[in-house]
Amino acid sequence: MTDNAMQTKVWGATGTRVSVIGQGTWYIDHGNHAAAVGALQKGLDLGMTHIDTAEMYDDAELVVADAIKGRRDEVFLVSKVLPNNASRAGTIKAAERSLARMRTDRMDCYLLHWRGGYALEDTVSAFEQLKKDGKILSWGVSNFDAGDLQEIYEVAGKGKIACNQVLYHLKKRAIEHSVIPWCEAHGVTVTAYSPFGHSDFPAPKSEGGQVLQQIAAAHGASPRQVALAFLTRAPAVVTIPKASSAAHAAENAGAGGLKLSAAEIAQIDKAFPRGREPSHLPML
Ligand code: NAP
Repeated sequence: MTDNAMQTKVWGATGTRVSVIGQGTWYIDHGNHAAAVGALQKGLDLGMTHIDTAEMYDDAELVVADAIKGRRDEVFLVSKVLPNNASRAGTIKAAERSLARMRTDRMDCYLLHWRGGYALEDTVSAFEQLKKDGKILSWGVSNFDAGDLQEIYEVAGKGKIACNQVLYHLKKRAIEHSVIPWCEAHGVTVTAYSPFGHSDFPAPKSEGGQVLQQIAAAHGASPRQVALAFLTRAPAVVTIPKASSAAHAAENAGAGGLKLSAAEIAQIDKAFPRGREPSHLPML
């Protein structure tokens, strides 16, 4: 059994602690708004207080608004600006629209969704302005490789980039080569997105699926819980699985207290090899 005591990690250089297992919201509302709200609320009840959304995710910010109503202070709320909006003025307007949609006065972190055409200086300057105005408490990036991170670090300076949100699941371990080491060296939290491969979780009968099953059985856990524990084994990494039902949310929250042994980590590493570093960081 996992003890379900949600572990937390420090968010960038902010000193704030964030749940190791959080909640994604991309496609959370399959036309069933109430179920989506219920899933997020169940997750909050079980300690998955890090909620990730984006202006890009259709009505997800509206789902979040209903889920956090009356309990904003429990939540670590993250949203993202689209690259096409990430000019100096556009970033500020996008943040204000997201705040209005989520019916809150602040975001705990605000991310550039991926690198686009606007100069990093413009987006960073808007992020710093939003911070000064208390509309965001920290900022970060998403889908940045180590070279992009170094560039924005040189623009922003030490201790400013709180997070880099990147694709990371058992079949896509590219960030282990350069991104995680860069983030660890610079005090940047790594948020692993699509931890179940979006819709490509290892089948139970596959070789890797059986390894997960065997480790899960030893802990009274599930294969998905084992995957989440594996992905968050490095000190800088947290993750944000998306669940549209309360039952799925509860299962995911159960990974927050699961610790794998070094031997189990080695077994998973062998079953899902990291592979060589690709020339481009994979993204969804
Ligand atoms: P994911 O979390 O890897 O997988 C979601 C899928 O897993 C859904 O089909 C979900 O089904 C299913 N699932 C969740 N918990 C389950 C459980 N306990 N048992 C069985 N199935 C379960 O995929 P994702 O949504 O792509 O990634 C997570 C979040 O990362 C997103 O929602 C978003 O917030 C963020 N993200 C960010 C970026 C970026 O560019 N920054 C890109 C992609 C994703 P149900 O919905 O039916 O529960």
